[in-house]
Amino acid sequence: MKKIAVFPGSFDPFTIGHEGIVLRALDIFDEIIIAVGANALKKSYYSLETRKTMISKVFRNEPRIKVDHYEGLTVDYCKKHGAKYILRGLRTAADFEFERAIAQVNRALAENIESVFLLTKPEHTPINSTIVRDIIRSGGDASRFVPSAINLKDYRGED
Ligand code: ADP
Repeated sequence: MKKIAVFPGSFDPFTIGHEGIVLRALDIFDEIIIAVGANALKKSYYSLETRKTMISKVFRNEPRIKVDHYEGLTVDYCKKHGAKYILRGLRTAADFEFERAIAQVNRALAENIESVFLLTKPEHTPINSTIVRDIIRSGGDASRFVPSAINLKDYRGED
């Protein structure tokens, strides 16, 4: 049976840290769905469509990677798409504590769905979307923190 993993996140924007996790996970899973969480209560910098477009560009030549969005529970999205794994990246001990709580609650909600964690490459540890957004808002050059297929000048933020 095909091993399908869902990589859920805000990806506002998608960074080389996210890309690194997805590329390494291709060795483990047959298919990865990058699922952008559409949270009506959480205001994003880039629109949902822009975030999906950016990510699709990065993986346009990789048929085993799909880009989608979802609302509601991640485990419900996984069930709907036949995914038994939730993929997440870990940078720090703080990430671990946060991810542990989410994974244990997800397990309580759906015990046949496993959360799988990959440790980030050391050089990607300090990269996070919040800092990348701050650089962009302040007019700085954040291009080295996003995959080369994403030309930030092509996209506008919402504020
Ligand atoms: P969320 O809002 O769900 O935390 P993010 O887009 O911030 O969404 O992150 C999605 C996933 O990618 C999370 O598991 C996060 O820990 C991981 N991640 C974020 N930045 C990096 C990075 N630089 N290296 C590895 N993993 C990362």
